[in-house]
Amino acid sequence: MRPIQMVDTKTQYHKIKSEVDEAVLAVMESTAFINGKIVQDFSAHLSSYLQVKHTIPCANGTDALQIAMMALGLQPGDEVITPSFTYIATTEVIALLKLTPVFVDVDAKTFCMDPVALEKAITPKTKAIVPVHLYGHAAPMSAIMEIAKKHNLFVIEDNAQAIGCEYTFPDGTIKKTGTIGYIGTTSFYPSKNLGAFGDGGAIFTNDDTMAALMKMIANHGQSKQYYHDVVGCNSRLDSIQAAILDIKLKHLEEYIQARRSAADYYDKAFAAHPKIQTPFRAPYSRHVFHQYTLVLENVNRDELKLFLAHLSIPAMIYYTVPGHKQKMFASFNVASQVMPVTDWLTSRVISLPIHTELEEEQLEFISAKVLEFVNK
Ligand SMILES: *Cc1c(COP(=O)(O)O)cnc(C)c1O
Repeated sequence: MRPIQMVDTKTQYHKIKSEVDEAVLAVMESTAFINGKIVQDFSAHLSSYLQVKHTIPCANGTDALQIAMMALGLQPGDEVITPSFTYIATTEVIALLKLTPVFVDVDAKTFCMDPVALEKAITPKTKAIVPVHLYGHAAPMSAIMEIAKKHNLFVIEDNAQAIGCEYTFPDGTIKKTGTIGYIGTTSFYPSKNLGAFGDGGAIFTNDDTMAALMKMIANHGQSKQYYHDVVGCNSRLDSIQAAILDIKLKHLEEYIQARRSAADYYDKAFAAHPKIQTPFRAPYSRHVFHQYTLVLENVNRDELKLFLAHLSIPAMIYYTVPGHKQKMFASFNVASQVMPVTDWLTSRVISLPIHTELEEEQLEFISAKVLEFVNK
């Protein structure tokens, strides 16, 4: 049996090695390391895959969120609502831009923003909502978009974990996550579902003016060479990463299917177990399983993690400390906020290895060992 990893980027690379190596060498030969034609080509291909008008490539998923928020022209003190149960990047940029992060609780089944909590958190200072499609499952976008419309708020979707995820609206319309709000963002961090061989990110929008502004912000606020109209930053996707991503994009659907079938295997293995809650799949979401995350009841999670580690089975806790309990947000008085579902989840979740290269014998071994411990 191959060693079990949380993500097996090496085996995945070896399957497309000749194509990738050739593309990387071609960039080196061209010496167009920055802004090569391949960056525009990849962006166009991604727009067409997502069915969105504009893709603005940038340096990483955190920058993508920052550029999106800079483009909205928000003022210090404006409130941005986001789930507490997410990766720190989502919330960090809000504080970085001197905006006020307002945390809301998530739904116990989907792990995504709870629309009821969202509506309660809205104040006259609220300007934007940042839902996160956590672990590859879509946030409840119809409810979120309705609330945003009613209160005249911007929606920025953090799609870093869910590229390729689809959302089905009540009328049957299907859209890819990241293209539903005013702006969407993603990350090409190597372990993400569309991972580069380094850092990368992108921003999506259907709004022409917003697209032009975000492009400008990502390039030193430059309108034409050496003319800088707004304060921007330097955030680029380099040509080598774009060349690799362009190849991997062609395999994305196949990668999603591989993740989904690994999840199906786990689902069956843990079905109806009284101590294990397997990932919920809302009918409106096509889950792309960036993570396969269990919620354990009456199981010593840390001991399970240790037990698995001794068997060379990695497992991770995403996330041990939620946003409202992070020291960096202490000045926003968030510690006093009550987030029962988030707190409940942070003490019970555990993510098992999930990626595109899992073999049946690995899945069998992992699930057998989890069950052995849980049934002890
Ligand atoms: C990975 C991630 C980011 C940040 O992406 P980077 O490319 O690492 O900057 C943002 N939000 C979420 C939810 C993520 O998982």
